[in-house]
Amino acid sequence: MARPFNFSAGPAALPLELLEQAAAEMLDWHGSGVSVMEMSHRGRDFMSICELAERDLRELLAVPSSFRILFMQGGGLGQNAIVPMNLMGRSTSRTADFVLTGSWSIKSQVEAQRYGEAHVAARVGIERPVRLPPPSTWQLSAAPSYVHLCSNETIDGIEFQGLPDLQALGCDAPLVIDCSSHIASRPIDWRRVGLAYAGAQKNIGPAGLTLVIVRDELLGHALPICPSVFDYRTVADQGSMFNTPPTYAIYIAGLTFQWLKRQTESALTGLAAIEARNIAKAKLLYDCIDASRLYRNDVDPSCRSRMNVPFFLADESLTEPFLAQAREAGLLQLKGHKSVGGLRASLYNAMPIEGVQVLVGHMHAFEANHG
Ligand SMILES: *Cc1c(COP(=O)(O)O)cnc(C)c1O
Repeated sequence: MARPFNFSAGPAALPLELLEQAAAEMLDWHGSGVSVMEMSHRGRDFMSICELAERDLRELLAVPSSFRILFMQGGGLGQNAIVPMNLMGRSTSRTADFVLTGSWSIKSQVEAQRYGEAHVAARVGIERPVRLPPPSTWQLSAAPSYVHLCSNETIDGIEFQGLPDLQALGCDAPLVIDCSSHIASRPIDWRRVGLAYAGAQKNIGPAGLTLVIVRDELLGHALPICPSVFDYRTVADQGSMFNTPPTYAIYIAGLTFQWLKRQTESALTGLAAIEARNIAKAKLLYDCIDASRLYRNDVDPSCRSRMNVPFFLADESLTEPFLAQAREAGLLQLKGHKSVGGLRASLYNAMPIEGVQVLVGHMHAFEANHG
């Protein structure tokens, strides 16, 4: 029986071949006689799994050697507190700047207020279609400890297509990005980044693992109140083994990185192949929405998310019938986030183009019946 296509925003679908491999290795990993879940995190077997995962991630995302890769816990929201506790101490004024572009960046700014001054440098306007405020209009504070943005707003469907060059804006502070919902879907320009964090459960693996990729020079500035397990210096010095890391989630993430490295699309491989496929998937869906009179997306094409596509029916009373018929057609989890309503299709790396084709077919058929 074919599996349904799962458009969940997170925890999200994983590639079938990866789940099959994990199932095959569940009881006995590589002749070790035990499941990865049952291994000591300091034993040779798990250390090899963890080191390979880190090496593969570094290779896939072309992370420079001046950055450390940390495997942490606490999720994206945990980092909303952990980042200020680690970085706000870099400036005497304990100020950080925030660019508010949707629900997640607002949460980050609100949480940071517990640790210092969380200055709003810019926010998206209320006009539709939504456009990102151009960096030249940002009101950065004099000497912030860092500047934070969410590079893909999962709920609002807004994505930065390129990262701002803070130095060109006269700001020396490091840029911190919450890339939870589009990490490993496209390259990251590390020249512009000080720290990137991501919960794993959108594009990488199971919930419980949080990736932090941070410049060496940003370690060692934690505020005294920062718990040791969340002090980047401590975590980095201990190779993410200060305490027990989420071992099984790291193992699955490692399988995802191997899967990503195997991907090909025309002459492209790895991340380039996945990006090309993500562009094609998003285009297919946005083209369908834009050509229709029944469906609507409210984000300007300059900043539409490739990963999360929120859309609305012209007649809202059709939302429930749309979802019910979609479920029958094997299309799951298309309900919009409760804060915005409507519909949302998340097209993470593991969603094949065939899933989007079936969705678009369903949308055409539904419009023919109800349009
Ligand atoms: C899902 C998500 C989060 C939340 O992460 P948790 O792991 O639930 O704490 C944070 N930021 C973004 C952009 C997300 O998409």
